[in-house]
Amino acid sequence: MKKLTYKFSNSSVDYWLAGGISHLKKITDQKNSIIITDENVFTAHTKRFKGWNCIVLKPGEEFKIQPTVDTIIEQLIKMEADRKTTLVGVGGGVITDLTGYVASVYMRGISFGFIPTTLLAMVDASIGGKNGIDVGVYKNMVGIIRQPKFILHDMIFLNTLPQAEWENGFAEIIKHACIKDAAMFRELEANSYKKYQARKTLVCELVKHNAIIKTKVVQQDEFEKGERRLLNFGHTLGHALENQYEISHGQAVAIGMTYASVISQKIIGFKEPGRVAGLLLKYDLPTFADFDKKKVFNVLKMDKKRERKDINFVLLEKIGKGVVKSIPLTQLENIIQEL
Ligand code: ADP
Ligand code: ZN
Repeated sequence: MKKLTYKFSNSSVDYWLAGGISHLKKITDQKNSIIITDENVFTAHTKRFKGWNCIVLKPGEEFKIQPTVDTIIEQLIKMEADRKTTLVGVGGGVITDLTGYVASVYMRGISFGFIPTTLLAMVDASIGGKNGIDVGVYKNMVGIIRQPKFILHDMIFLNTLPQAEWENGFAEIIKHACIKDAAMFRELEANSYKKYQARKTLVCELVKHNAIIKTKVVQQDEFEKGERRLLNFGHTLGHALENQYEISHGQAVAIGMTYASVISQKIIGFKEPGRVAGLLLKYDLPTFADFDKKKVFNVLKMDKKRERKDINFVLLEKIGKGVVKSIPLTQLENIIQEL
């Protein structure tokens, strides 16, 4: 089993990308580890958890909140977890966020690792050290940036992944292609879900490649002063849409990327917004959805990326090259009204 080690500002992370959960014992001491997972993952893969201490949570983003943190901490105390304990989050982004957050505050911080089980968590959520919880309607309002000790992948989890979750993952994969990797963009154009789902090695390579793209962006800018902002492509408008409508993160980001491509055309002469939309459609993601522009703009104005009268917006110069531009909010409002 091959290990890659990536250094961040004050820690390093071991990636076991073609690993397998059966190797977890070699990475962390079973007696001193506690797995945190959710009911869906636990039920679908019970036998893989045999011999491990487990805390099994209710599934869903609505539980990514402080009361769940309290419950986990109470269980950790009951299980006599101490400074030597390692928490292992086995699940989607909700589980990895909760695990990283609890591990960072329990006894002022214990070590933790991840086994992401959704495509989105494998290529995005588990990477980069942002771990947090939601407060009311505010997503990830409270949290920390702290890196896990290890990330272990096992493609076997994808066998039980619902189709909607494949779409969420591909939205982020397409995002990576747009901002960083024209060759991968072409590969995605040439393939399909059918091909990826039929060929384990193909999806395994795609996941590895995307995990590394995100890692390298984060490595250059762990605390989001510059380069890391590129990962927000499609997310400024996406988050505002997600806040207002009952759509998935992947769908919101897909619509966000579509409009960000059109805005890129208007502001910096990006030539291929049609190709971005075409690729999203190919992976069953929405593109030019109708939305209440005024309402959505009012939410967008409150974005964390806003700096006084300007907002840092990610645009595409060309496919494979994203750029961050500071745009006056008034200009952005006009463009959105005209869309
Ligand atoms: P993400 O933020 O990664 O999209 P969530 O943590 O919200 O993911 O998980 C999405 C849903 O998928 C949850 O209901 C979760 O229980 C379920 N889930 C996660 N991994 C798997 C898997 N490998 N097989 C089946 N369901 C899964
Ligand atoms: Zn995202």
